[in-house]
Amino acid sequence: MWPTATQIFPFLPGRAPVEADRQQQTGPLPDDWHIRAGFVRERDGYYCRNCGAGGGPNGNAELHVDHQIPRSVGGGNEPENLRTLCRDCHEARHARLFAS
Ligand SMILES: [Zn+2]
Repeated sequence: MWPTATQIFPFLPGRAPVEADRQQQTGPLPDDWHIRAGFVRERDGYYCRNCGAGGGPNGNAELHVDHQIPRSVGGGNEPENLRTLCRDCHEARHARLFAS
């Protein structure tokens, strides 16, 4: 059997999701996620904790809230496990693009 194109070039658009993609998230976020995320952004001073890009009152970066220990391996939604990342850093971390 010859490998398929998506096995050789898994980065091609339209490839089937690999296991790592499916494990990015497990289940829906809690109902009060937006409250938790708002708290974390404020706690982190509206700066990306990876590259320091500013969002909110500090700049134009699109700030996401990231699970430091991924939910797929048991990380929780408590603030201690959450951190502010800019969109670029968050996408790089998960090797995928987020919808606007
Ligand atoms: Zn960043």
